[in-house]
Amino acid sequence: MEKDNYSKKALHTRLPEPDPYGSLSMPVYNTLAFEYDSAEAMELAFTGKSNGFVYSRISNPTVFHFEEKIRAISGASSVTALNSGMAAISNAVLTLVQSGSNIITTRHLFGNTYSFFNATLAGLGVETRFCNLGDFEQVEAAMDQHTAALFLEIISNPQMEVADLVQLATIAHRKGIPVIADTTLIPPSHFKAAEWGIDIEVISSTKYISGGGASLGGLILDYGNFNWANSATLTQLAEQHGTNAFTFRLKREIHRNLGAYMTPQVAYQQLIGLESMELRYRQSSATAAQLAQYLSKANGVCCVNYNGLPENPYYELSNRQFGTHPGAMLTFDLGSKEACFKWMNNLKLIRRATNLFDNKTLAIHPYTTIYGSYSPEAKETMHIYDTTIRLSVGLEHIDDLIEDIQQALSY
Ligand SMILES: *Cc1c(COP(=O)(O)O)cnc(C)c1O
Repeated sequence: MEKDNYSKKALHTRLPEPDPYGSLSMPVYNTLAFEYDSAEAMELAFTGKSNGFVYSRISNPTVFHFEEKIRAISGASSVTALNSGMAAISNAVLTLVQSGSNIITTRHLFGNTYSFFNATLAGLGVETRFCNLGDFEQVEAAMDQHTAALFLEIISNPQMEVADLVQLATIAHRKGIPVIADTTLIPPSHFKAAEWGIDIEVISSTKYISGGGASLGGLILDYGNFNWANSATLTQLAEQHGTNAFTFRLKREIHRNLGAYMTPQVAYQQLIGLESMELRYRQSSATAAQLAQYLSKANGVCCVNYNGLPENPYYELSNRQFGTHPGAMLTFDLGSKEACFKWMNNLKLIRRATNLFDNKTLAIHPYTTIYGSYSPEAKETMHIYDTTIRLSVGLEHIDDLIEDIQQALSY
């Protein structure tokens, strides 16, 4: 699924205003406040009647340029940049819930997202209904008039469950419920969320966009297609702002009050990452597909989980939604926790580290790390096993990666 003119937009989307010195890249506007010529102009800016910047917790020219590039690439009607993927997820969800609301999702979630729903929101009187997203009847039956959103990851990390987006969006939309999707595992150059019925997209830009594991960031993309009239927290705003009601509350209230806006230094780093993202992704996802092939035949390795392998249960769905190289992450199982630890300790090139889509290939044992604080019973319900290694594939040559994997297996 090669996407048209990504690089043109990533490289050449113009600065919001011509730079006084002709700067070719967007400068880092390392300022908190912005000065005005008159009290009248200030009033217009502070009340949102002009586009002026007022304070960098709310908006900033460098961050705005990053948001505008993401908007050009994705086709979203509005983009908000935050200082981590978790900030994007929590701000997006908090725009839609109040005490008494419920969220429909699955236990196949990134660890902190699970904890946000299961612990943080539960404490605020927001119920999360964990379903099997492959069981459409169960999902539909869990929805009611207090359901604020269906939340899912397009590919779950690390279970690699692929959500059937057309089916799930159809069910949600029939009930007037918006779909919030975490699309972190496939970059916006290769996945167009709006084409699959996603209303609000959240991305950890720490991953593919940042590149090189250089900076933390998160994005909320509103495609401006949803009718919010029946959303508990947005009913009144929907009367005034129609399909922009979500963004209006997010930008005017939630993100200002929670104070997790992206900083200009990070936006600058992420702008650089964005320029080469498609190229990096093509390389790392092709290498991941080759590695999955290699691992599926390697001695001592069982259950390679990569959606691009024909024997994978999600192969066809994944192919349809994400193309032939679905992401640069895969998992595989060795016989035991001990075998996993031994393999990891034998690595010479691949790094033992968390994070995804660094330029370096990274290996982690999720059971004892990301999910280390969960009970064995909780891990069982999330399908997290102590025999699984997660690999995030970077930009090394395939031969060097295979050599390292092989030597680490053969001890
Ligand atoms: C990393 C990740 C997050 C959280 O992003 P941060 O930038 O670390 O806060 C959320 N969802 C998925 C799928 C992730 O991989």
